[in-house]
Amino acid sequence: MKYIFGPVASRRFGMSLGIDLSPDKKRCNFDCIYCELEPAKPVEIYDNPPNVYEIFNEVKEAVNQFDFDVLTITSNGEPTLYPYLNELIDKLKTLNKKLLILSNSSTIYKKEMQNTLKKLDIVKLSLDSVMEKTFKKLDRPHKDISLKNIIEGIIKFRKIYKGELIIEILVVKGINDKKEEFIAFNKVLEQINPDRVDISTIDRPPAYKVEGVSINKLFQLSEYIKNQKIFIPTREKIEYKIENLTKEELLNTLKKRPFSESDVKNILDEHTQRIFNDLLKENLIEEVWVGGIKFYKAYI
Ligand code: SF4
Repeated sequence: MKYIFGPVASRRFGMSLGIDLSPDKKRCNFDCIYCELEPAKPVEIYDNPPNVYEIFNEVKEAVNQFDFDVLTITSNGEPTLYPYLNELIDKLKTLNKKLLILSNSSTIYKKEMQNTLKKLDIVKLSLDSVMEKTFKKLDRPHKDISLKNIIEGIIKFRKIYKGELIIEILVVKGINDKKEEFIAFNKVLEQINPDRVDISTIDRPPAYKVEGVSINKLFQLSEYIKNQKIFIPTREKIEYKIENLTKEELLNTLKKRPFSESDVKNILDEHTQRIFNDLLKENLIEEVWVGGIKFYKAYI
C-alpha cells in the first residue's frame, strides 16, 4: 500500500490507521530543526498531487481489513498542502470512521482551510512558540508564513469548530524551554480554549543538531499553563511528583488542571492517590475523554 500505514498504537490517540498524503518525498512549508525527516527547503505548493480516488480507494480497502480507533490524515510534511484535501475529507467521511488530522497550523488562517478542517472529529495543531523569534528559529517556516496569522487563525477556527481541538507544543532544549515562553503560551491558550494541550519533546533522531528536554522539565513547564487539560506522552519513568495533598488541595488542583489517567498513576504519590480514589468514590471527580485520552476533573 502506498498511502496507508499502520494501524499503530499511538500514546495520544489510541489505535491509529495512518494516511500519508506525501509518501514519495517531504513536502513541507516548515523546516523544523527537530523534524524526524531529512532537512528540506520549505515549499508552499504540493507538486504532482495524486488524485483523490487513488488515495480513497486504498483507504477504503484498508478500512475493511483493519481494526482501529481513528483514521489519521498525515504526511511526509504538511498534509494541508495537499490541494484536494477538502474533496478527500468528504470522501473519507462516507467511511464513518473517526477522522483526525495532524497539521503544523501554517494554513489555519485561511477561511477555506478552516471550513475543510471543521468537518473532522479531531484536529491536532502544532504551536511550538507564541514568540516570533523563537518560532522562526525552531520551525524555520516559509518566508510568507506569519506567527500572528497562525495564532489569530487558530482562535477563529476554535470559534467555528465543534470537534476536539488539540494543541501540541514540542519543546527543544535551549530554545522554547524557558519560563517566559510558557507564561506567554498560557495567555494565548486562554484565548484559544483548546480541548487538550499536548506537551512533548524530541524522541526520534532530529534533522538538525538539537536535543530534547527531560520529562520532568516538561512537567515543570506545564505548571505555567493554567486551566487546560494537559497531556505529556512518555515512555520514561517520571521523577516529578505531586505529594501529600489534602482533599481540598487536590480538588483545587483538579479544578485548575485536570489530570490524565497516566498523571494519576505516575505523578501522584501513594497518599495523594488514596485521596484521589476517595474523591472518585464520593463522585466529586468526573471523567472526560479528549482525543482518546481519559482525564479527571473536579465537578465545579
Ligand atoms: S512541520 Fe512537521 S514535517 Fe514539517 S518540518 Fe516540521 S516537523 Fe517536519
